[in-house]
Amino acid sequence: MNTLTFKNGVHPPYNKELTENKPVTKLLPKEKAVFLMQQHTGAICQPIVKKGDRVLVGQVIADAVASMSAPIHSSISGEVVDIREIPYAEGAHIPAIIIKNDHQYEEYNPIHNLLDYKELSREHIIDIIHKAGIVGMGGAAFPTYIKLNPSNYKKIDSIILNGCECEPYITCDYKLMLNEPIKIVKGLNIILHLFPNAKGYIGIEDNKKEAISAIEKAINDIGASDKIEIKILETKYPQGSEKQLIYAILGREVPIGKLPADIGCIVQNVATSYAIYEAVAYRTPLISRIVTVTGDAIANPQDFWVKLGTPFQDLIDAAGGFIKKPVKIISGGPMMGITMPNTNIPITKATTAILCLTEDAAPIFEEENCIRCGRCVRVCPMNLLPLYLDKFGRRNDIERFEKINGTSCIECGCCAYVCPSYIRIVNSIRKAKRNITANNNIKG
Ligand code: SF4
Ligand code: SF4
Repeated sequence: MNTLTFKNGVHPPYNKELTENKPVTKLLPKEKAVFLMQQHTGAICQPIVKKGDRVLVGQVIADAVASMSAPIHSSISGEVVDIREIPYAEGAHIPAIIIKNDHQYEEYNPIHNLLDYKELSREHIIDIIHKAGIVGMGGAAFPTYIKLNPSNYKKIDSIILNGCECEPYITCDYKLMLNEPIKIVKGLNIILHLFPNAKGYIGIEDNKKEAISAIEKAINDIGASDKIEIKILETKYPQGSEKQLIYAILGREVPIGKLPADIGCIVQNVATSYAIYEAVAYRTPLISRIVTVTGDAIANPQDFWVKLGTPFQDLIDAAGGFIKKPVKIISGGPMMGITMPNTNIPITKATTAILCLTEDAAPIFEEENCIRCGRCVRVCPMNLLPLYLDKFGRRNDIERFEKINGTSCIECGCCAYVCPSYIRIVNSIRKAKRNITANNNIKG
């Protein structure tokens, strides 16, 4: 098999065997659903319901107050019992709407007839995607309607669906490709309808042979092989990162400070493509997704098809609870995931996995001094100098951090993964990037 790839990167243990051969289980929230007001890149949403209101499935409960945002819909029917801040990662508190589940699942605006996207204008389709609250579901959570509406849309020649799922442990995209390949490919057809001069590619790593077969069959079954092609990629981390994927498939580099659209590409996750199809064909907003519950602390790791807002604890209970004490509860994978403070955190649009690791799987080492071995430099997929980014980040020397392109770090964690001194390089890079953003906001 002729596989494509990018420069550098790492091969961590993938640990996907914990869940990859198990079926996806549908799961409903027990008592309540909790909707964070920040589930996307951009401005935080404001609640448009109040305590005591009854809401229905698919009803908008919070909306944007700025141009870059995405509305939030209820995934259950029930009563709004509280609107308050809840603890989130890294000491942050985020406002949330808490809805008591009445277990009726009464729908706000049911449309079950299949609608034909070919009869809709470009603007109308983008408006549907916006109103459905769709964001990038691979973790980045960038509002999809913005990504699909670049000013140079006629110059876009390539739409890439990301089916790599290169993060260890996670299998939610893999399961979606096995279970809903037709809808994923039809979603890509809708995206292609928006870009008259583009061809579609679906990139999948070569460790997902069944997904490759399922997507290949779907492309043929719906007669799309003239405009959509599968690209098989080497299993390597971070193969699914946007810039690395574009390089692997098209051989194009996104210049520093530019976007994929500037070089004629748009990348979407396979789950986002599925959500686009559901929104455009059935007017279904983004209210559910597949989430992997895994790690050596979990009794029966598996994937769940779950309503957004479901607390982590409901999924952990459904996976048999903990068999060993976890030292880390991570939202996402071990490389780019974020450690959560507790299991009351809800599933959001971008939650791919709940990873619960014991001390055996996630030992905590003391940081030692940098020995200038250069390993971090050799694996960096962005060709950066992680040891210096760490140094300048720790000193808050923003000028030198920016001079060596620190802001183009994709926070993939390859550098920290190979560092023999266990230096938490990504933490200091994230901190520096946050300070830069804060400074820019102050400057206006
Ligand atoms: S891998 Fe770690 S020890 Fe080696 S140069 Fe990079 S930061 Fe220093
Ligand atoms: S410096 Fe950034 S892009 Fe490079 S390996 Fe480290 S986290 Fe990844």
